[in-house]
Amino acid sequence: MKNQLIARADSVLAATYKRFPLVIERGQGCTLWDTDGRAYTDFVAGIAVCNLGHACPEVAKALCDQAERLFHVSNLYYTLPQIELAAWLVDNSFADRVFFCNSGAEANEAAIKLARKNFHDKGQPDRYKIISMEKSFHGRTFGTLSATGQQKIREGYAPVLSGFEFVPFNDIIALKRRMGDDICAVMLEPIQGEGGVVCPDAAYLAAVRQLCDDAGALLIFDEVQTGMGRTGRMFAYEHSGVAPDIMTLAKALGNGLPIGAMLAKENVMAAFVPGAHASTFGGTPVITAAALEVVRVMERDRIPERCRKVGEYFKSRLQALMDRHEIIEDVRGLGLLVGLKLKTPGASIVAECMKRGFLINCTQENILRFIPPLIITHQEIDALINCLDDIFSEMRI
Ligand SMILES: *Cc1c(COP(=O)(O)O)cnc(C)c1O
Repeated sequence: MKNQLIARADSVLAATYKRFPLVIERGQGCTLWDTDGRAYTDFVAGIAVCNLGHACPEVAKALCDQAERLFHVSNLYYTLPQIELAAWLVDNSFADRVFFCNSGAEANEAAIKLARKNFHDKGQPDRYKIISMEKSFHGRTFGTLSATGQQKIREGYAPVLSGFEFVPFNDIIALKRRMGDDICAVMLEPIQGEGGVVCPDAAYLAAVRQLCDDAGALLIFDEVQTGMGRTGRMFAYEHSGVAPDIMTLAKALGNGLPIGAMLAKENVMAAFVPGAHASTFGGTPVITAAALEVVRVMERDRIPERCRKVGEYFKSRLQALMDRHEIIEDVRGLGLLVGLKLKTPGASIVAECMKRGFLINCTQENILRFIPPLIITHQEIDALINCLDDIFSEMRI
């Protein structure tokens, strides 16, 4: 049955994804079940999306209740859940205003457009260049892939959008050298996710903020992956005490429902006047009602704080594993965005974990990335650690 399904999928779907041979049918909390009835403990969470776990009952209820009332009316009118969600985001971040869209790429696309429009409106249309980081990831639309500092993602799509320059992440000297009055914004992830769970030095973000202020450029934080409690704070920028001018969110904001948001300070968002930007589905009632429940549950259950504690435990267990196994080069990350750098490619470890009932992810070839639901328990972490310990021990024999 499963093989037939997979063969059918591979005959009708675009081959854009290299998928694992699993057909997943159901989830609850941190567990997923496939069509063979096998259970997996999920350390991927739909790529840092299902922060409250699978089939979160409160979110499911909010979604169903709103679906019985109103799906969609477009942004020609106001709707209640959109207003409440925007107000929550404004009350709980540096930002004054929110633009809603449907994905991380769209949120970043909006951020890029807003940055350019700011300088256009100030009579500086030539000031359109954006500096982003090597190994960054900002999305797959033309604008965002142009901002993405990975050649393999731009491959085959030339010419990409012009006006993007790249400097190494966590290198303040390189940024300083490139800064100038032709730069409209600096765009970065506070911790690089797809780039391999790369955390910058403690003083880096403050130094970037200073360079932007000195040059009169805007600072954009892409918190599509790091936002919504993932790093042990609601937003990763809070660790540094450095606020951006523009921030993008998506992945975990809807716990699996498609939503993106671009947040900005009042004076910056002022460039988005009526007609300047739009999205048919942006902030539609069903999705914003669900996202509003996501943030309520996060507050009620103090999810960021919980993530901070559980993440520290997870990292300490991985560090102990590193002491036992030569193959591990580094343990890094913040909260439950955790990376384990290996001295060898990680694909076979991912496959071996799957055989033993654990879903994990590998990025940049040799970095195992652990991004479980933030409700993961010590017992579930212990079980994964034992599984990895066995796999690494067997590799040595
Ligand atoms: C996933 C991701 C994106 C792209 O989000 P999509 O919803 O896939 O468009 C952008 N930036 C970062 C940091 C991401 O992790």
